[in-house]
Amino acid sequence: MRILGIETSCDETAVALVEDGRLVGERLATQIDVHALFGGVVPEIASREHLRVLPRLFDELMTDTGLTPADLDGVAVARGPGLLGSLLVGLSFSKGLCLATGAPLVGVNHLMAHLLAPGLDGALRFPALGLLVSGGHTHIYLLRSATDFELLGRTLDDAAGEAFDKVAKLLNIAYPGGRFIDMLASEAEPDTALFPRPYVDNDNLDFSFSGLKTAVANHVAAHPEVVLDKMAGAEGLAGISGVRRQELARICASFNWSVAQTLKIKVERALERTQGVCSLIVAGGVAANSAVRRTMAQVADSAGVALTLPSLSLCTDNAAMIAYAGWLLFRAGYRHGLDLEAVPRGRAIPEDWSVCGDKR
Ligand code: ATP
Ligand code: MG
Ligand code: FE
Repeated sequence: MRILGIETSCDETAVALVEDGRLVGERLATQIDVHALFGGVVPEIASREHLRVLPRLFDELMTDTGLTPADLDGVAVARGPGLLGSLLVGLSFSKGLCLATGAPLVGVNHLMAHLLAPGLDGALRFPALGLLVSGGHTHIYLLRSATDFELLGRTLDDAAGEAFDKVAKLLNIAYPGGRFIDMLASEAEPDTALFPRPYVDNDNLDFSFSGLKTAVANHVAAHPEVVLDKMAGAEGLAGISGVRRQELARICASFNWSVAQTLKIKVERALERTQGVCSLIVAGGVAANSAVRRTMAQVADSAGVALTLPSLSLCTDNAAMIAYAGWLLFRAGYRHGLDLEAVPRGRAIPEDWSVCGDKR
């Protein structure tokens, strides 16, 4: 079964082809440079960019794989959560393809796709505990199977990736700053007393990262000399050296540590409370973070469960994960009609959303 995946939920436009659970081709265009000028994603620009590049990426994928639209056995599209205008571009394109070819459509929950993505690298083992740490979400799920999820905990305010990006902004590091913080963090030892592990002195599985961001803001306000003179990305950071670089690295390493340890406390708590879990899946953009990867390896090891991490390119947004999740859903009998609607970020998620769609 050949499934096309389409991802346009935020600032990556991507198409991919999965055949019988294996990735056979993909094309991705990131809009990071366009939005970095504004310090974050501008929704209207994002939709226009998706509209501009999606048809070209699709044609390139067909050329790469030597296929035509008629060869597709199904189309899987990210239906949300994400930016409404951006999602609609992917949905409209997908519906047009389905109408033209007669291929069936399935809408994929972008968050589930993040969690299932490591299945492309090797078999997933269920029941699993799933930690989704991305730009917009920090969720803990119990995954009974690839299509049966239960939300156990979530962030009450900022998502982990959002906290990384906001801290980067405080230091004048370019958007999205998570990967630059991680890079600088590798140059110093964390000062474990510098920042708190926020919202852990309670009995729940929820997160709150806004206090941690405030702690960094207070530290930076007291040490304004660490803030970069002008917004710096990879190139700008390469030119920073000496004491200022060491101090930046110390802040980044300490922040990395606080986030990873906070995630550790809640994941260990969740593992204690769930019966029979045999693996821990960590996914989303922040799953690319070195401290998170290291810490979760320790957590899985001491709990005696397998650790499943996506390869780095599968952590951030991509269409391979959408095609793969779509393939799993088609196999399990899920389909959507051409009346499929987008579910934007922030809208209440319907009950059946947990299983990514409606069985037809
Ligand atoms: P969502 O999936 O919740 O809708 P999103 O798709 O925008 O949000 P992802 O693409 O999964 O999020 O992840 C992007 C986030 O990951 C950004 O906040 C980015 O800073 C962060 N990120 C990427 N690499 C790293 C890293 N090495 N360390 C920390 N954060 C990182
Ligand atoms: Mg993105
Ligand atoms: Fe995402």
